Amino acid sequence: MSSFRMTESRLEPAAAAVDVTLPAGQGWTQELAPGDIFRIVDLEGNQAVDTLFFNGRDIDERYSATETIRAQGNIYLTTGTRLMSSEGRPLLTIVADTCGRHDTVGGACSAESNQVRYALDKQHMHNCRDSFLLALARYGHGMGKRDLPNNINFFMNVPVTPGGELTFADGVSGPGRYVEMRAERDVLVLISNCPQLNNPCNAYNPTPVRLLVWPKV
Ligand SMILES: [Zn+2]
Repeated sequence: MSSFRMTESRLEPAAAAVDVTLPAGQGWTQELAPGDIFRIVDLEGNQAVDTLFFNGRDIDERYSATETIRAQGNIYLTTGTRLMSSEGRPLLTIVADTCGRHDTVGGACSAESNQVRYALDKQHMHNCRDSFLLALARYGHGMGKRDLPNNINFFMNVPVTPGGELTFADGVSGPGRYVEMRAERDVLVLISNCPQLNNPCNAYNPTPVRLLVWPKV
């Protein structure tokens, strides 16, 4: 997809304060301070990384797909996108991106969507909504279902057709591609590394991602 604008980072993984590999199907939370840099690496390619952000000092202020799309006048996320909150303020800014396009309209998979999109017998399958809830339960602070607004799907390709329909298409990412963002305030990161086995976005093969944080310099 050469039409996408790629922006590389100069940060070295060896200097990161946090460097973890998150297997597919697992959730993760991380607190960021203003100025921290957060990178997600698509280790094997075409993984979907379902992600939410909250104001670390007031979790009632959280990522808003609507405010983000409205602020930039574009439905896809890439370098320069300010990830806006429900209060219309930037939580983070994407500062590097070697994938080129990320989705924020497709939503997270759930037991319900697995049945509607694929088959009734997919109801029991592991899904992002459950991973989000499990990670929030471990994090504590009383967060739960009411704290799951529409999310970002990093590395996921969900083109919108001229007729306005969503299509779950083959991925546009590849092994080692990454997206990097700067926290603009205290931020809580919530990730579900998607376990989905029914979607061509990840070639029906969910894979691990690498998560890095560099403290503000
Ligand atoms: Zn999912």
